[in-house]
Amino acid sequence: MSVLRISRAVYEAIRTHGEETYPHECCGALLGRASPDGWQIEASVKAGNTRTDSPENRYQIAPVELVKIEREARRQGLSIGGFYHSHPDHPAQWSQTDFAEAHWLGCSYVITAVARGKAAVTNSFLLAGTTEEDKRFEPERIDVSETVEPLAALIESKKA
Ligand SMILES: [Zn+2]
Repeated sequence: MSVLRISRAVYEAIRTHGEETYPHECCGALLGRASPDGWQIEASVKAGNTRTDSPENRYQIAPVELVKIEREARRQGLSIGGFYHSHPDHPAQWSQTDFAEAHWLGCSYVITAVARGKAAVTNSFLLAGTTEEDKRFEPERIDVSETVEPLAALIESKKA
């Protein structure tokens, strides 16, 4: 089983985003570095949900926004390691639509269930496979790290 390593700050940010957009779905991208057994996520980027036809159970990041996110990731020396979205009043399990619209092989897809406006379970699924034909979602473990962010550590040391 692969592992999605994510800092406490980023983990809380994506869960809070789901509460903010409730009862609509939130969505965004996860930036990080690849490691042999999964992604190390360093940052998240909020995206606007362009699915205005059905925002409570569909999400989509506009291609132009995705290009901007990719450029920003590269600037920080990171890659797009995954995407996240919320399921308002539905379990944190991928839907057939989520699967059909997932095309980033090797990336993590994180889903947070938001029950009556409160973030509940968060699950991550790795989009495994080598082609669109044999792709599949595999559940992965989320490892939330409590370590202090490098930036926060820097600010702390300046104060001291
Ligand atoms: Zn979904």
